[in-house]
Amino acid sequence: MHRSCRSAAHRGRTAAASCLAFLLASCAAQPARDDAPAAGIRVDVPQIRHPDDENAAWWFRDGAAQAAERGAMRGRAKNVILFIGDGMSLTTVAAARILQGQRNGGPGENNRLSWERFPATAFSKTYNTDAQTPDSAGTMTAMITGVKTRAGMLSVGQSAPRKDCAAGLQAPLLSALELAESAGMATGIVTTARLTHATPGATYAHTPERNWEGDTELSDEARAQGCADIARQLIETPFGDGPEVAYGGGREYFTTAEERDPEYDDKVGSRLDGRNLVAEWQAKHPGGAYVWNRGQLNAAHGKLPVLGLFEYDHLHFDYDRKDDPGEPSLTELTRDAIQRLQASPDGYFLMIEGGRIDHANHYGNAYRALTDTIAMSDAVQAATELTSADDTLILVTADHSHTLTFVGYPQRGNPILGKVRGSSGEDGGGGLATDATGLPYATLSYANGPGYTGASSSQPAGPKKFLHNAKEYESANGRPNLTDVDTEHPDYLQESTLPLASESHGGDDVGIWARGPGSDAVRGSVEQNTIFHFMVQATPRLRERLCAAKLCDASGVPVGLPKPDEFKNR
Ligand SMILES: [Zn+2]
Repeated sequence: MHRSCRSAAHRGRTAAASCLAFLLASCAAQPARDDAPAAGIRVDVPQIRHPDDENAAWWFRDGAAQAAERGAMRGRAKNVILFIGDGMSLTTVAAARILQGQRNGGPGENNRLSWERFPATAFSKTYNTDAQTPDSAGTMTAMITGVKTRAGMLSVGQSAPRKDCAAGLQAPLLSALELAESAGMATGIVTTARLTHATPGATYAHTPERNWEGDTELSDEARAQGCADIARQLIETPFGDGPEVAYGGGREYFTTAEERDPEYDDKVGSRLDGRNLVAEWQAKHPGGAYVWNRGQLNAAHGKLPVLGLFEYDHLHFDYDRKDDPGEPSLTELTRDAIQRLQASPDGYFLMIEGGRIDHANHYGNAYRALTDTIAMSDAVQAATELTSADDTLILVTADHSHTLTFVGYPQRGNPILGKVRGSSGEDGGGGLATDATGLPYATLSYANGPGYTGASSSQPAGPKKFLHNAKEYESANGRPNLTDVDTEHPDYLQESTLPLASESHGGDDVGIWARGPGSDAVRGSVEQNTIFHFMVQATPRLRERLCAAKLCDASGVPVGLPKPDEFKNR
């Protein structure tokens, strides 16, 4: 409220009314200040009922409305970087920030991860169209296409049932990376998971089944109906000239069963269709470089495009990278990708995934989940240093939550991976807190997963160790005594309440942190598919490409569902 009007409101109704009239007039005459809350644009969205009326076009329009009403259209971004911490729940973020702070010699709680210094935040609601607790395929489809869909599907709309190839071919969704390619921008994909895994896969592949990573995973029916595996879709993408940078793991799906892996003598590729996709990619891009280790990556300085497959499967957890000195870190890959993409005069779109935070949580191993989160914090820090907030929008988010819990009343500065000391605040006296049966307990635990302490088919009763693969579990007989157990050991598995072979995702919200042009629109509680619309509305080159396809409303907001065919190379 105008300052003179605030005092007028105290003076009486007449003064307040005339002041309101003055205020309306003066607002109409003056353009909005740049540091004022962003002016929103209203997009009408029909009320619908789930499931009958819900469809891809409705989700697209609804996401557009949420971004536009928050002012994303005021953004003037040239470049966009989307960071995904796979499975990076808010609890994972809180615990990782403390671990990083404690490693730097502080109590930890006051520390901030790199993105926790960004000016804008929002909550993201992650459910899939058919799942209360989502998976990485449906969630990445939401973020990268602006449309929510079913669990397990990559950039295909909910009208197709999962695994239905023929229906999936009728419902492809345009990804932000494909849109950027068709708009003449440079694009990049960086992940510590396999390049064919769900999160990176949704940027370039369209498939009703995330597990169709290689040709041998496709069903005979799907092959007969014309579906291509995910690895093939990366090298056959018909949008622009394809990604300039694609870094991750997953050599297995790009090479044939006749070829020995360059890094592991005892491994061969898994393709049985005789197609060496690396060789096909090289033939398509004679000026580019294919690399599989750090030395080759550095030697390819200045080259574009670059395909980097740094592992046979996923890259290592950051903690385990010491066992493979040739494998670049997520920060090295981030720096390299940004520096190559900065050569593009028309801007770039880059997706970077800390892909294994999720895997460590599934294994019930908080140590690796937190250290991989810290590794992503380093990568985000590098990205903020290499780019300017004047022209580069950076979003950091997670695709979904996990069941990691952070509880008890540990005293300030207590080791985050340790046992709870103190009973309340800082006056606990430093002794171990005990549960109602008199046993100590750790600050971190999981609601379910392989950290269950009953005997399993592979480990005895009591605390479990990474890597715990078990087919069967017995009921636990009370809790183990942790007095002499090192819960800070990298291989300790936090206790879990329910035995599950793989700890599950959580259905709670995740965070979005943002910096750069358009980031002031990132606030409140949004549906996850709004993330696409934040990025596209804040980037003139992207939104204008959609308007050129007649998909914008009178205010220039892209509200119509794009048909991928219209954005392919002719
Ligand atoms: Zn997962």
